[in-house]
Amino acid sequence: MADAKSYKLPLPRARGRAAEFYAFCKRHELRFQRCDDCGAWRHIPRDMCAKCGSFKWDWQQSSGRGKLFSWTTATQPMMPQFADSVPYSPVVVELDEGVRMVTWLIGIKPEELALGMPLRVLFDDVTPEVTLPKFTRA
Ligand code: ZN
Repeated sequence: MADAKSYKLPLPRARGRAAEFYAFCKRHELRFQRCDDCGAWRHIPRDMCAKCGSFKWDWQQSSGRGKLFSWTTATQPMMPQFADSVPYSPVVVELDEGVRMVTWLIGIKPEELALGMPLRVLFDDVTPEVTLPKFTRA
């Protein structure tokens, strides 16, 4: 694990509900908001349900399982901090609960990606303060 000064890649600047999401990640728990009224899961964190308008919700544990929904492959670093990472593929994972999140993969090369491939979450403690949810083969 890098310390906060030696870790070179951008870290999330989590505030409000997003800070709560990352606090669960720090505990190696993938949790999303779930509406108390209609049961819809949601991500990115926000106060109101987009399906029914309810403000009643709770953090619920995700299965951590999903499938590859979409990706792009970066072959040129868009920022100098990514020079050692190319080629890499930012991906959109669709969790079994239906929410989608942009994330990273571990142990899967860009040329191995396939639409719908099963994935599972794992937690990368990138600094003592920040843990990022990433995905690998299920
Ligand atoms: Zn709802």
